[in-house]
Amino acid sequence: MPVYEYECRDCGKRFERLVSFREAKEAQECPECGSRSTRKLMSVVASVRKDDDGVSSCPTCTSGVCNL
Ligand SMILES: [Zn+2]
Repeated sequence: MPVYEYECRDCGKRFERLVSFREAKEAQECPECGSRSTRKLMSVVASVRKDDDGVSSCPTCTSGVCNL
C-alpha cells in the first residue's frame, strides 16, 4: 500500500498514512489535534523504510503513526 502525506487544515500538522487506495480518498484523522479536516497532499512518499537503517526512522514523522 502506498504512503500518503496529509496536512491538517486546523493545526497545520503534516503526517503520513499508509492507506489503501480506497481509504486514501477519505479524510484521515489528524494525529495532533484529532481533526478530520485534513487534506491529502499530492506528494506520495513512495518508500518504505526497510533496507535502510533498519528501524522505524521516519524523517518527518515523530508521532509514530507511520508504524502501522
Ligand atoms: Zn491537526
